[in-house]
Amino acid sequence: MNIILFGPPGAGKGTQAQLIVKKHNYFQLSTGDLLRSEVKKNTELGNKIEKIISKGNFVSDEIVNKLIKQTVGSLRFRDRIIFDGFPRSIDQSKHLDVILKEFSQKIDIVISLVVPREIIEKRIIGRITCDKCNLTLNEYFNKEEIKLHPCGEDNFVKRKDDNLSIVISRYDIYQKTTKPVLDFLSKNSNFHEIDGTLEIEEISAKIDTFLNV
Ligand SMILES: [Zn+2]
Repeated sequence: MNIILFGPPGAGKGTQAQLIVKKHNYFQLSTGDLLRSEVKKNTELGNKIEKIISKGNFVSDEIVNKLIKQTVGSLRFRDRIIFDGFPRSIDQSKHLDVILKEFSQKIDIVISLVVPREIIEKRIIGRITCDKCNLTLNEYFNKEEIKLHPCGEDNFVKRKDDNLSIVISRYDIYQKTTKPVLDFLSKNSNFHEIDGTLEIEEISAKIDTFLNV
């Protein structure tokens, strides 16, 4: 089965993709990795990609599609690809279908991890660290553990964190660019939303139920 996995930054998408790779012997396809590995291979296409990236430009859909076609066409990865954060547009989504059809494959499952913006915010602004042992917890999500911490709960301090605006802007960009694709893909019966605020194991177990059908 081929899978598409979506999720905003901070939703644990990378962790879940890794778990699927390990548990079910999948190949994780992210366009960033494909581009980097092509550059490393020093092919003609790789050199072209390197030039585009070094100028700070975006690599065209045409090049991305070419690389995806190579992977989809490889027998090694047949029916066990996780598309990680791809497609990013409806055009890419339609083209992916064309490529898959060419090799008699399809997307079997689309999974979208959903995490509300305020949870992402709390994950960052709630971070506190024990001054004595450096343990980092979250004042919103780890209330019990903080109370029971052996060093004492008074040793927890909040460190200044400039990450918030960066993470939130990445979250907003994700929502904006991915929404049309999700709206498009959610019309299919193979589309599943999973609460991304659940524990890692709980999310993984839900994904497993889709994969074991
Ligand atoms: Zn401590």
